[in-house]
Amino acid sequence: MLILVKYNFDPKFHKHDYFIYNQFLDVTVNNQLWLHLQLHTMARILTGIQSSGKPHLGNILGALKPAIEMSKDPKNDSLFFIADLHSLTTVRDPQLLKENTKAVAASWLAFGFDTDKNIFYRQSDIPQVAELAWYMGCLTPFPMLANAHSFKDKSEKLADVNAGLFTYPVLMACDIILYSGEYVPVGKDQKQHLEMARDIAEKFNSLYGETFVVPQAKISEEIMTIPGIDGQKMSKSYNNTIDIFQEDKALLKNIKLIVTDTTPLEAPKNPDNCNVFKIYALVAKTHEIASMREKYAAGGYGYGHAKQELYECLLRTFAIERQLFNHFMQNPTELETQLACGAEKARAIALPKLKEVRAKLGL
Ligand code: ATP
Ligand code: MG
Repeated sequence: MLILVKYNFDPKFHKHDYFIYNQFLDVTVNNQLWLHLQLHTMARILTGIQSSGKPHLGNILGALKPAIEMSKDPKNDSLFFIADLHSLTTVRDPQLLKENTKAVAASWLAFGFDTDKNIFYRQSDIPQVAELAWYMGCLTPFPMLANAHSFKDKSEKLADVNAGLFTYPVLMACDIILYSGEYVPVGKDQKQHLEMARDIAEKFNSLYGETFVVPQAKISEEIMTIPGIDGQKMSKSYNNTIDIFQEDKALLKNIKLIVTDTTPLEAPKNPDNCNVFKIYALVAKTHEIASMREKYAAGGYGYGHAKQELYECLLRTFAIERQLFNHFMQNPTELETQLACGAEKARAIALPKLKEVRAKLGL
């Protein structure tokens, strides 16, 4: 039966679908032929969020929401994970790391990721990815990593510039290629890392023969990079985030910290230069955005007013997700059960791929 499935596979798919083989091993011959037609349009979506902090508005709009939208397409199978190994580049407190991991998991679920249809796992539960990262690191040119914008940015801003930060793109490439991810929904900040992942996969394929699917970034052009409260890229490690899951009062305090200029309340203002408006424009409805734009232009409308509107808009927009997030944070065993089940499914893809790689390398 398996041979027949393989024989019917489009060569584009034969590389990566151990999981699909497993799922459909017991269908009848006729069904297999039907299945074969369906698989031509099937895509594997893969993305992760580090547990370097609680997910923020940038993670949610830039990665989590678009990824979940893509995962709803019945033709896609999705692997979404919590990148806790990556977080070790910045987090030194084990308790905090655990808490953050929980928060990232709770966020995926709060936004409605369907863990039955898809695969939801914690990166460190399949530590073989770190083994693959060593192999791939040995193929990655040093100058490619030295030119990474993200490393340059982080090494300027962070006190602890470690080798893990430097080799981060290699581990990220392995996160994707180990599971044959085809489409990777990420924020614009990850574009260069995705190009590196492609280069790394292609290099291995050209040296050792077709092994890895070469992934593609899926970057939502309207979303791009969400600014933080200081106007730079919102990032967990820059301390400039908006945490939509915190208590109302703390959220309002967080919004009040958004940096604005000193234009007096009465004066007309340019919304396009304002961090508050930029963030509002990413979450509010079209007519609400137009109305705020008019208020800025008319004058007599202060940044304090805009911040209050942004706060209320966030509460409205994310009311359900905020509730669900709290539910999962208070029920960690529910999270752990989901993650254990996801780890099993993820392992079933990762282990055979790694075996293939070892054999090709001569190990
Ligand atoms: P860190 O500072 O630890 O790197 P981060 O806030 O940049 O954390 P990541 O875990 O690195 O978050 O990124 C998770 C996903 O969120 C990635 O797909 C990334 O592209 C996306 N993302 C992160 N920050 C933003 C942002 N400001 N705008 C849009 N997308 C973002
Ligand atoms: Mg990042």
